[in-house]
Amino acid sequence: MSEQYPLLGESLEELYEDAPVGYLSTSLDGTILRCNRTFLALSGYEADALVGSRRFYDLLPPGAKIYYETHYAPLLELQQEVREIALEIVRADGGRLAVLVNADVRRDHGNDAAIVRITVFDATHRRRYEQELLHARAAAESRAAAASALQHVKEGVVLLDDDGKVVVLNPAASRLFGLAADEDVAGMPLTALVRGWAAIAGRIQTGRSGEPVTSVVLPLAVAGDTRWIAASGEIAPDGVVYTLRDVTAERRLESFRDDIVAIVSHELRTPLAGVYGAAQTLASLGASLDAGQRESLIKLIVEQSGRLARILDEILITQQLDGGDLRVERTTFDVAGVVAKVVGLARSWRTTRPVRLLGDVDVEVEGDPGLFEQALVNLLDNAIKYSPADGEVRVGIERLTSTARVTIADDGPGVADDQRERIFEKFFRIDPTQVTGVTGTGLGLYITREVVRRMDGRVGLGPSEGGGGSTFYIDLPLARSL
Ligand code: ADP
Repeated sequence: MSEQYPLLGESLEELYEDAPVGYLSTSLDGTILRCNRTFLALSGYEADALVGSRRFYDLLPPGAKIYYETHYAPLLELQQEVREIALEIVRADGGRLAVLVNADVRRDHGNDAAIVRITVFDATHRRRYEQELLHARAAAESRAAAASALQHVKEGVVLLDDDGKVVVLNPAASRLFGLAADEDVAGMPLTALVRGWAAIAGRIQTGRSGEPVTSVVLPLAVAGDTRWIAASGEIAPDGVVYTLRDVTAERRLESFRDDIVAIVSHELRTPLAGVYGAAQTLASLGASLDAGQRESLIKLIVEQSGRLARILDEILITQQLDGGDLRVERTTFDVAGVVAKVVGLARSWRTTRPVRLLGDVDVEVEGDPGLFEQALVNLLDNAIKYSPADGEVRVGIERLTSTARVTIADDGPGVADDQRERIFEKFFRIDPTQVTGVTGTGLGLYITREVVRRMDGRVGLGPSEGGGGSTFYIDLPLARSL
């Protein structure tokens, strides 16, 4: 071993002792016969403490000992070599050292002697690197999972950098702002994408992570419509994360509830008082009343309780329309059947105004017969309500090119041109003083238009005829003949 290494002037001895890897030679039972200085430095032992007195096995911690016995030793015996086995050794100071081990069995076939040559690499850096790699992979995976979750959450999430430019804007936010789904908005200032964003952002509460902030509900103008969003912000390392929720439907329901309280107190009171009064009169004076008086009291109860039921139906159906949970059936049905039923019903409401059914065409249409009935009830109720005492109501059915048209004409005051569209708005009523004594919720025509629209039909107010009055109509698509 004292031979000079020709090029570097380094002896083979030095090359062995100070190689950048620990060398060990052991007997077949593992007793350490020789080791280099590098191994001593790695393990922290003096040569005397190892050579001739300890086995390589003795340097292993309990877990590695099991591995040694179950894998390392059998493999070495079987293959006469092992490669890159990851082990730990316990250093003299009790610390652990991660190592990578290669071992070869060298046999001298002449005298049957054998030794095991072991190289021991310090794997601390490599292990750390592997662990960092694992952490990096886990972090990347969790980032990918977070990004995918962001794609699917119902809430809009927007991350803006310190300059207000978009870093992340998820699909829910893009829908909320009315942006095109495939529009790449990264790097663009949100103020350029969302009208009025600067004012909105100024009113959103932002807090540091974990700090409680209250969402504020703000209006957002999108494509000529007003949407209501509940928004809050959280300060992120390089900007602000906004969370946005569309609360338009909830808000509509809330304002509907406020309006409903007003309606209930005004509109229900009149018919209820009528029913109550008539019933009380019947109860206390029943016996002393003549047949005619009794009959008119009973008629009043029937009429007014019918009115009560219709108001409640209107409230219920409006709530379903606004909450988006109105079920619309689609079947084929005969218009004349439903019209006849509603006309029969209407005749029981008020006996003073006759309802005349003109023509009786059998036409099959497609839609929801229950909702069609509701729409018809509303128009007929209005026609009767707004007719003068001596007026009459005419109901007709016609077959047009692709629709069936039901018309409801009355002799009432008609609707002024500038009100023709507005009467279909929710809660809209023409100045009540113009039609004194006629009560209503202002929901009837709104419901009619909405339910007919959901059946792909149309409701409208025909041109006023010379003699005044109103002619409303409902068109429904004809059933497709098979
Ligand atoms: P309501 O009848 O409960 O007030 P509607 O939505 O049914 O509510 O109607 C809205 C408004 O349209 C009414 O207040 C009334 O002024 C007007 N209107 C509806 N139908 C007629 C009609 N046949 N003739 C005259 N005005 C009508």
